[in-house]
Amino acid sequence: MAPLILEDPATDDAKTNSRNTADRRTITDKATLLQERKLVLLVDLDHTMLHTTSKQFEGDYEEGLFQVDHGRRLFTVMLRPHHDRFLAVMSCYFELHVVSKCMRSYASSLLEHLDPEQRYFGNRVYTREDLPNESKFELMLKLFPDGYEHVVAIDDRRSVWSHMINQYRVSAYRYFTSGYFGLNDVISAKMPDLVDDEQLLEAERFLIDVHERFFSSYDKGTAKSTTELFTEVHEERKMSKQIAKMSVMEENMPDGAKEIPFPEHQGLKCDEADNCDKNKENVNQ
Ligand SMILES: [Mg+2]
Repeated sequence: MAPLILEDPATDDAKTNSRNTADRRTITDKATLLQERKLVLLVDLDHTMLHTTSKQFEGDYEEGLFQVDHGRRLFTVMLRPHHDRFLAVMSCYFELHVVSKCMRSYASSLLEHLDPEQRYFGNRVYTREDLPNESKFELMLKLFPDGYEHVVAIDDRRSVWSHMINQYRVSAYRYFTSGYFGLNDVISAKMPDLVDDEQLLEAERFLIDVHERFFSSYDKGTAKSTTELFTEVHEERKMSKQIAKMSVMEENMPDGAKEIPFPEHQGLKCDEADNCDKNKENVNQ
Protein backbone atom coordinates (compact mmCIF):
# COMPACT_ATOMS: atom_id res chain seq x y z
CA MET A 1 0.00 0.00 0.00
CA ALA A 2 1.09 3.55 -0.64
CA PRO A 3 2.92 5.09 2.31
CA LEU A 4 1.63 8.24 3.94
CA ILE A 5 3.81 11.28 3.31
CA LEU A 6 4.14 14.08 5.83
CA GLU A 7 3.07 17.21 4.04
CA ASP A 8 2.92 20.85 4.92
CA PRO A 9 -0.79 21.64 4.60
CA ALA A 10 -0.15 25.39 4.20
CA THR A 11 -0.34 25.75 0.40
CA ASP A 12 -0.36 23.63 -2.73
CA ASP A 13 3.09 24.99 -3.56
CA ALA A 14 4.33 23.94 -0.18
CA LYS A 15 2.90 20.48 -0.77
CA THR A 16 4.62 20.19 -4.11
CA ASN A 17 7.90 21.37 -2.63
CA SER A 18 7.53 18.99 0.26
CA ARG A 19 7.06 16.05 -2.10
CA ASN A 20 10.09 17.09 -4.08
CA THR A 21 12.42 17.52 -1.15
CA ALA A 22 14.99 14.85 -0.66
CA ASP A 23 14.31 14.52 3.06
CA ARG A 24 10.60 13.79 2.86
CA ARG A 25 9.56 11.34 5.52
CA THR A 26 7.23 8.42 5.09
CA ILE A 27 4.91 6.69 7.46
CA THR A 28 3.64 3.22 6.74
CA ASP A 29 -0.14 3.22 6.81
CA LYS A 30 -1.86 1.52 9.72
CA ALA A 31 -3.30 -1.45 7.78
CA THR A 32 0.11 -2.40 6.40
CA LEU A 33 1.75 -2.02 9.79
CA LEU A 34 -0.82 -4.23 11.49
CA GLN A 35 -0.36 -6.82 8.77
CA GLU A 36 3.33 -6.78 9.63
CA ARG A 37 2.37 -7.15 13.33
CA LYS A 38 3.91 -3.80 14.15
CA LEU A 39 2.86 -0.67 16.03
CA VAL A 40 4.45 2.79 15.96
CA LEU A 41 6.99 3.98 18.55
CA LEU A 42 7.93 7.69 18.71
CA VAL A 43 11.34 8.10 20.33
CA ASP A 44 12.73 11.18 22.07
CA LEU A 45 16.50 11.76 21.97
CA ASP A 46 17.90 13.98 24.72
CA HIS A 47 17.68 12.53 28.24
CA THR A 48 15.87 9.51 26.80
CA MET A 49 18.42 7.90 24.48
CA LEU A 50 21.45 10.04 25.36
CA HIS A 51 22.80 12.98 27.36
CA THR A 52 24.68 15.96 25.98
CA THR A 53 26.83 18.70 27.43
CA SER A 54 27.98 21.83 25.64
CA LYS A 55 30.63 22.45 28.30
CA GLN A 56 34.23 21.45 28.10
CA PHE A 57 34.35 17.83 29.17
CA GLU A 58 37.04 16.64 31.51
CA GLY A 59 36.77 12.93 31.85
CA ASP A 60 37.98 9.65 30.44
CA TYR A 61 36.70 8.21 27.21
CA GLU A 62 34.12 5.47 27.69
CA GLU A 63 32.19 3.42 25.18
CA GLY A 64 29.20 5.39 23.94
CA LEU A 65 30.94 8.77 24.32
CA PHE A 66 31.47 10.99 21.27
CA GLN A 67 31.71 14.62 20.27
CA VAL A 68 29.65 16.57 17.77
CA ASP A 69 30.81 19.76 16.11
CA HIS A 70 27.67 21.79 15.60
CA GLY A 71 27.43 25.46 14.75
CA ARG A 72 30.93 26.26 15.95
CA ARG A 73 30.15 24.61 19.25
CA LEU A 74 31.51 21.32 20.43
CA PHE A 75 29.06 19.02 22.19
CA THR A 76 30.03 15.91 24.10
CA VAL A 77 27.43 13.18 24.02
CA MET A 78 26.97 9.94 25.95
CA LEU A 79 24.58 7.28 24.68
CA ARG A 80 22.32 5.73 27.29
CA PRO A 81 23.20 2.19 28.41
CA HIS A 82 21.37 -0.53 26.45
CA HIS A 83 20.41 1.90 23.64
CA ASP A 84 21.65 -0.53 20.97
CA ARG A 85 19.72 -3.49 22.33
CA PHE A 86 16.62 -1.33 22.85
CA LEU A 87 16.53 -0.11 19.25
CA ALA A 88 17.30 -3.53 17.80
CA VAL A 89 14.55 -5.24 19.82
CA MET A 90 12.00 -2.45 19.42
CA SER A 91 12.45 -2.39 15.65
CA CYS A 92 11.05 -5.95 15.54
CA TYR A 93 7.82 -4.82 17.18
CA PHE A 94 7.45 -1.17 16.16
CA GLU A 95 8.08 1.22 13.31
CA LEU A 96 10.46 3.69 14.95
CA HIS A 97 10.35 7.48 14.53
CA VAL A 98 12.50 10.13 16.17
CA VAL A 99 10.49 13.01 17.65
CA SER A 100 12.84 15.54 19.22
CA LYS A 101 12.77 19.21 20.12
CA CYS A 102 16.36 19.71 18.95
CA MET A 103 17.36 21.23 15.62
CA ARG A 104 17.31 18.96 12.57
CA SER A 105 21.02 19.33 11.75
CA TYR A 106 21.96 18.56 15.33
CA ALA A 107 19.66 15.50 15.43
CA SER A 108 21.28 14.26 12.22
CA SER A 109 24.70 14.45 13.87
CA LEU A 110 23.42 12.47 16.86
CA LEU A 111 21.84 9.84 14.64
CA GLU A 112 25.13 9.23 12.86
CA HIS A 113 26.15 7.57 16.13
CA LEU A 114 22.83 6.28 17.41
CA ASP A 115 21.70 4.77 14.12
CA PRO A 116 24.69 5.00 11.75
CA GLU A 117 23.28 2.68 9.10
CA GLN A 118 19.76 4.15 9.28
CA ARG A 119 18.45 0.69 10.11
CA TYR A 120 16.00 1.81 12.75
CA PHE A 121 14.67 5.29 11.96
CA GLY A 122 15.39 5.63 8.26
CA ASN A 123 14.23 9.12 7.33
CA ARG A 124 11.48 9.20 9.97
CA VAL A 125 13.04 12.03 11.95
CA TYR A 126 10.92 14.93 13.24
CA THR A 127 12.60 17.84 14.94
CA ARG A 128 11.94 21.34 16.24
CA GLU A 129 11.25 22.55 12.71
CA ASP A 130 8.36 20.09 12.40
CA LEU A 131 6.70 20.63 15.76
CA PRO A 132 3.56 22.74 15.67
CA ASN A 133 3.58 25.05 18.73
CA GLU A 134 6.56 23.03 19.99
CA SER A 135 4.10 20.28 20.90
CA LYS A 136 4.96 16.66 20.18
CA PHE A 137 1.36 15.74 20.85
CA GLU A 138 0.13 18.07 18.10
CA LEU A 139 2.69 16.64 15.71
CA MET A 140 1.41 13.14 16.47
CA LEU A 141 -2.16 14.22 15.70
CA LYS A 142 -0.90 15.59 12.41
CA LEU A 143 1.01 12.41 11.55
CA PHE A 144 -1.90 10.14 12.43
CA PRO A 145 -5.03 12.09 11.53
CA ASP A 146 -7.20 8.93 11.56
CA GLY A 147 -6.32 8.03 15.15
CA TYR A 148 -3.34 7.08 17.25
CA GLU A 149 -4.66 3.88 18.85
CA HIS A 150 -1.66 1.98 17.41
CA VAL A 151 0.93 4.58 18.48
CA VAL A 152 3.11 4.80 21.60
CA ALA A 153 5.92 7.16 22.61
CA ILE A 154 8.95 7.06 24.90
CA ASP A 155 10.19 10.28 26.46
CA ASP A 156 11.54 11.70 29.72
CA ARG A 157 8.93 14.49 29.70
CA ARG A 158 5.17 14.25 29.87
CA SER A 159 4.17 17.85 29.23
CA VAL A 160 5.37 17.90 25.58
CA TRP A 161 2.97 15.00 24.94
CA SER A 162 0.12 16.79 26.73
CA HIS A 163 0.32 14.04 29.37
CA MET A 164 -1.12 11.47 26.97
CA ILE A 165 -1.44 8.04 28.55
CA ASN A 166 0.25 6.03 25.80
CA GLN A 167 3.63 7.63 26.51
CA TYR A 168 6.17 5.55 28.42
CA ARG A 169 8.11 7.88 30.67
CA VAL A 170 11.74 7.11 31.44
CA SER A 171 13.65 8.99 34.12
CA ALA A 172 15.95 11.59 32.56
CA TYR A 173 19.36 10.14 31.73
CA ARG A 174 22.21 12.25 33.08
CA TYR A 175 25.82 11.26 32.51
CA PHE A 176 27.44 14.69 32.77
CA THR A 177 27.48 17.14 35.58
CA SER A 178 28.64 20.70 35.15
CA GLY A 179 29.65 23.58 37.28
CA TYR A 180 32.15 26.32 37.86
CA PHE A 181 35.59 25.10 38.75
CA GLY A 182 37.90 28.05 39.10
CA LEU A 183 37.10 31.64 38.14
CA ASN A 184 35.81 31.36 34.59
CA ASP A 185 36.07 27.73 33.65
CA VAL A 186 32.82 26.01 33.00
CA ILE A 187 33.48 22.33 32.64
CA SER A 188 31.55 19.15 32.85
CA ALA A 189 32.52 15.81 34.26
CA LYS A 190 31.05 12.38 34.68
CA MET A 191 28.34 12.29 37.32
CA PRO A 192 29.64 10.88 40.56
CA ASP A 193 28.03 7.68 41.85
CA LEU A 194 26.43 6.74 38.53
CA VAL A 195 24.32 3.68 39.10
CA ASP A 196 23.50 1.04 36.50
CA ASP A 197 20.86 2.53 34.27
CA GLU A 198 18.34 -0.09 33.19
CA GLN A 199 15.53 2.23 32.15
CA LEU A 200 15.61 1.10 28.55
CA LEU A 201 15.47 -2.57 29.57
CA GLU A 202 12.41 -1.85 31.70
CA ALA A 203 10.86 0.13 28.85
CA GLU A 204 11.53 -2.78 26.50
CA ARG A 205 9.60 -5.20 28.73
CA PHE A 206 6.70 -2.80 29.14
CA LEU A 207 6.37 -1.98 25.46
CA ILE A 208 6.55 -5.61 24.36
CA ASP A 209 3.82 -6.38 26.88
CA VAL A 210 1.65 -3.65 25.33
CA HIS A 211 2.44 -4.95 21.86
CA GLU A 212 1.45 -8.52 22.76
CA ARG A 213 -1.79 -7.41 24.37
CA PHE A 214 -2.62 -5.21 21.40
CA PHE A 215 -2.39 -8.06 18.91
CA SER A 216 -4.04 -10.53 21.26
CA SER A 217 -7.14 -8.30 21.44
CA TYR A 218 -6.85 -7.42 17.74
CA ASP A 219 -6.86 -11.10 16.73
CA LYS A 220 -9.95 -11.72 18.83
CA GLY A 221 -11.76 -8.89 17.07
CA THR A 222 -11.93 -6.82 20.25
CA ALA A 223 -9.05 -4.47 19.49
CA LYS A 224 -7.93 -2.27 22.37
CA SER A 225 -6.11 1.03 21.87
CA THR A 226 -2.60 1.57 23.22
CA THR A 227 -4.12 4.12 25.62
CA GLU A 228 -6.35 1.41 27.13
CA LEU A 229 -3.45 -1.04 27.23
CA PHE A 230 -1.07 1.41 28.94
CA THR A 231 -3.67 1.90 31.68
CA GLU A 232 -4.17 -1.87 31.94
CA VAL A 233 -0.45 -2.70 32.16
CA HIS A 234 0.29 0.15 34.60
CA GLU A 235 -2.52 -0.99 36.90
CA GLU A 236 -1.45 -4.64 36.81
CA ARG A 237 2.16 -3.71 37.54
CA LYS A 238 1.11 -1.47 40.39
CA MET A 239 -0.92 -4.31 41.86
CA SER A 240 1.98 -6.79 41.45
CA LYS A 241 4.33 -4.36 43.20
CA GLN A 242 1.91 -4.00 46.10
CA ILE A 243 1.59 -7.78 46.43
CA ALA A 244 5.39 -8.19 46.26
CA LYS A 245 5.81 -5.47 48.88
CA MET A 246 3.33 -7.18 51.19
CA SER A 247 5.11 -10.53 50.74
CA VAL A 248 8.45 -8.95 51.68
CA MET A 249 6.88 -7.31 54.72
CA GLU A 250 5.45 -10.66 55.78
CA GLU A 251 8.77 -12.44 55.28
CA ASN A 252 10.51 -9.87 57.46
CA MET A 253 8.05 -10.27 60.29
CA PRO A 254 9.08 -12.27 63.39
CA ASP A 255 7.81 -15.87 63.09
CA GLY A 256 5.02 -15.48 65.62
CA ALA A 257 3.75 -12.30 63.98
CA LYS A 258 3.09 -13.91 60.60
CA GLU A 259 -0.04 -15.65 61.82
CA ILE A 260 -3.14 -13.66 62.53
CA PRO A 261 -3.70 -14.20 66.27
CA PHE A 262 -6.88 -15.85 67.37
CA PRO A 263 -9.28 -13.54 69.14
CA GLU A 264 -9.61 -13.87 72.89
CA HIS A 265 -12.86 -14.04 74.75
CA GLN A 266 -12.88 -13.66 78.47
CA GLY A 267 -9.26 -14.67 78.84
CA LEU A 268 -9.39 -17.79 76.68
CA LYS A 269 -8.11 -18.01 73.10
CA CYS A 270 -10.64 -19.11 70.50
CA ASP A 271 -8.16 -21.44 68.79
CA GLU A 272 -9.53 -24.82 69.77
CA ALA A 273 -12.92 -26.37 70.17
CA ASP A 274 -12.30 -26.95 73.88
CA ASN A 275 -11.57 -23.32 74.48
CA CYS A 276 -14.62 -22.27 72.51
CA ASP A 277 -16.74 -24.49 74.69
CA LYS A 278 -15.10 -23.06 77.79
CA ASN A 279 -15.79 -19.56 76.50
CA LYS A 280 -19.41 -20.44 75.98
CA GLU A 281 -19.59 -21.86 79.48
CA ASN A 282 -18.05 -18.68 80.86
CA VAL A 283 -20.49 -16.56 78.92
CA ASN A 284 -23.45 -18.63 80.10
CA GLN A 285 -22.45 -18.47 83.76
MG1 LIG B 1 13.95 14.62 26.30
